[in-house]
Amino acid sequence: MSAVILVVDDNEDNVDIARQMLLSRGFEVRVAYNGPSALASVEQRRPDLILLDIMMPQMSGMEVLDRLRANPATAGVPVILVTAKDQDEDLLAGYKYGADYYITKPFSAKQLLYGIGLVLGTERPE
Ligand SMILES: [Mg+2]
Repeated sequence: MSAVILVVDDNEDNVDIARQMLLSRGFEVRVAYNGPSALASVEQRRPDLILLDIMMPQMSGMEVLDRLRANPATAGVPVILVTAKDQDEDLLAGYKYGADYYITKPFSAKQLLYGIGLVLGTERPE
């Protein structure tokens, strides 16, 4: 059974790129274009992993992550944060909020799949 990955990004092009990368590797992909939709999607069906953009209007990825972690039903869902920003403070804040991994845009399919493999435990760090 293939892992279900929820891709969350306010930019449709970014969602499409990630979706293609994941579909080509056999993952089941669901998408959300904003924080509230992402939270509703997770509530409806718990994904195996969430690829979560930080910079989104209305509700940031950081707030989505915070809400996921605050709810016992979703606290354990693995989250990989995605952002164009790569400052140390963002990285540290992401981990403080409970992110499992952190990837910076633009990323290659190889980088994305490696991060997912690490978080899902199907790939070991070298
Ligand atoms: Mg964004």
